[in-house]
Amino acid sequence: MTRFPKRRHVVATVLSTVLGLAIACAPSTARFPGDVTRGVPARLRVQVSGQVRTIALDDYVLGAALSEVTPVSESNRVAATVYEVQAIIARTYAVAQAGRHAPEGFDVCDRTHCQLYEPARIATSRFSAIARAAVARTTGRILRFNSLPALTLFHSDCGGHTTTPTAAWGGAALAYLPARQDEAGGTHRTWQFSATAEEWVRVLASDARTDPGGRLSGLIVSQRDASGRASWVRLEGGRGRHVTGETLRAVVAAQRGARSIMSTLFEIEPTPNGFVVKGRGFGHGVGLCQVGAMARARGGASVTAILAHYYPGAR
Ligand SMILES: [Zn+2]
Ligand SMILES: [Zn+2]
Repeated sequence: MTRFPKRRHVVATVLSTVLGLAIACAPSTARFPGDVTRGVPARLRVQVSGQVRTIALDDYVLGAALSEVTPVSESNRVAATVYEVQAIIARTYAVAQAGRHAPEGFDVCDRTHCQLYEPARIATSRFSAIARAAVARTTGRILRFNSLPALTLFHSDCGGHTTTPTAAWGGAALAYLPARQDEAGGTHRTWQFSATAEEWVRVLASDARTDPGGRLSGLIVSQRDASGRASWVRLEGGRGRHVTGETLRAVVAAQRGARSIMSTLFEIEPTPNGFVVKGRGFGHGVGLCQVGAMARARGGASVTAILAHYYPGAR
């Protein structure tokens, strides 16, 4: 289920041992169309494989939760907690985003643009029964902040520190989406992406924003956000470039896959013939960290405690 989000959207995918996951993409604006204090709708118009279908909200939530997380090798207790968390954030995200595609005649699409929704998983996933019970236990429940549905962004692995939507995409700050340390002992992953200077030039030339003009002599993080993520990267070479860390990640991921540069929480070092990017985490790092949430569930944390950690102040 490797998904390549469009443009600046972020990826998250299956973690080798732990999670299947998707990503929540960057909202262009945090707006809530219609009545901002509205309740939870009974149904959603979902575009599934190009066809618009009207689906009961909790059926959509079940399909989305199963598409977004697979707690392989976790106990039933932990899996139940993980699916309660995922059901609440999937339902909330759907409510917050409903209407995003209104001009096209539906509420949400089935891709990572909104939330991954692969209804076939309801029949095929071995976690279906656990997820279905979790959806039923949480029915009608969404997270709100100041009475508005919260924008429950989430990602696969924060690498040890979450970040804000403002730092990730330049969007509006939201009090319940802070940059926070995530002490979830040993569960955050590290990764490396190495390439020769010639390979870097080829990859970066695929996009006008990062085209270094035939030669790359330097690749330098010029600015970091509060979480340590590379906000800006300088490309030195035939044509100097200054790009955001997310742009660099998106361009490389589009060419080399979601598991090349997996997050912007990275250092760049020169090698004898090119550059290596050494990083932590997977995904944009905003909101709930799925590996951290799973570690908390394993440690006995309640659904409420997990949500309160990643969306502080939302109720
Ligand atoms: Zn969409
Ligand atoms: Zn984390």
